Amino acid sequence: MSTDSVYLDSNATTPPLPEVVEAVMSGLSEHWANASSSHAMGQSSRLVLAQARGHVARFLNCKPAEVVFTSGATEANHMALRGAVGFNGRHRLVLSAGEHAGVRKLADSLEARAGVVLGWIGLTPEGGLDARHAAELITDEVSLVSVMAANNETGVLMPIGEMARLAHAQGALLHVDATQQVGKLPFDFGRCGADLVSVSAHKFGGPKGVGALIVRQGLNWPALFQGSQERGRRGGTENLPGILGMAAAAQSHTLPVDAWMQRATRVGALRDQLEQGLMARLPGTVVYGIGQPRLPNTSYLRFGMLHADVVLQRLEQLGVMASSGAACSSSGQEPSAVLRAMGVPRAEALCAIRLSLSPATTHEQVQYVLHGLPQALAPLMEAPAGLSAPTVSPTGVFA
Ligand code: PMP
Repeated sequence: MSTDSVYLDSNATTPPLPEVVEAVMSGLSEHWANASSSHAMGQSSRLVLAQARGHVARFLNCKPAEVVFTSGATEANHMALRGAVGFNGRHRLVLSAGEHAGVRKLADSLEARAGVVLGWIGLTPEGGLDARHAAELITDEVSLVSVMAANNETGVLMPIGEMARLAHAQGALLHVDATQQVGKLPFDFGRCGADLVSVSAHKFGGPKGVGALIVRQGLNWPALFQGSQERGRRGGTENLPGILGMAAAAQSHTLPVDAWMQRATRVGALRDQLEQGLMARLPGTVVYGIGQPRLPNTSYLRFGMLHADVVLQRLEQLGVMASSGAACSSSGQEPSAVLRAMGVPRAEALCAIRLSLSPATTHEQVQYVLHGLPQALAPLMEAPAGLSAPTVSPTGVFA
């Protein structure tokens, strides 16, 4: 990335913090011995592994023994959902329709191959969870309810406490994919009411390929990969460089509440400035999830009926990095499933792009986008009526 680029894709991934790079390097060059080896070098790796577990636990307010290191949130989500099949003799899973694509696809495959019955909690038109629908779906036949803490596209926060109450009242467990909230707002495992929580290091300044499933103490959760590591809950030689990097990121985010609030307020003010400025300069701009409790860094919007590919191409020309929704599905061909679940028509959903800021985003960068993007888009938005819905994609093909 050029140093002049404006990076507004923090929900896709974040740059590793300098202390993270250092910690990963120490895992590669110093602590490369296998943490399961009984010799002195293995013991040294075991010690730093235990320290790293402690840092991650402190950051998330859980017990060190509740942390199961994984290759990221995708694996953690798989461990949570697969482990729930047959839990308490139950085969019903309830998920929100806004879950990450990896979770939705896994659920579909469990339904097709493992005899699981699925219930999908709908989203409201504003991007929140339809709590009444949730209450109907969560019965005493459900083994697990899976709801994300914050949506990766809209940033809308989900009512986790309420879901925990509904699930527990029916003897079901609650899994929370907290991948997007962790690092952007405080997340407290001890208080959130969830039994299982997925996190991913690269969303909060850590390295890619490492994350964790937090498993509430006392839950004997089955392993996806058999082996003796992670107390038999996740086999495979520990990715110590990654885990040390994740722990360094966790330490740098272990902040007092007022520091969190300061950071969130600053990022939120820049995001609001960006949204308000774009709406004022480009009539026809629609912001999804506006007015809902949201992650302070996230803006999900469309500019009239301009196709997302067109907008992203103009942003790229300005040196601004952004995505159309989830990075993993940002080919632009399929409309966002989250927007479709909110009832947004397909043609409009194909126009949505996501701008996700970070604490490193500056006032100058926001001003730069506010100056450049309206100039680039206004002539396209003023196209004659026949061309306005939906617009041409960069290849010239009507989408
Ligand atoms: N869940 C959510 C909500 C996400 O945003 C992502 C990353 N896009 C994942 C899961 C997958 O995380 P990972 O890259 O660690 O597998």
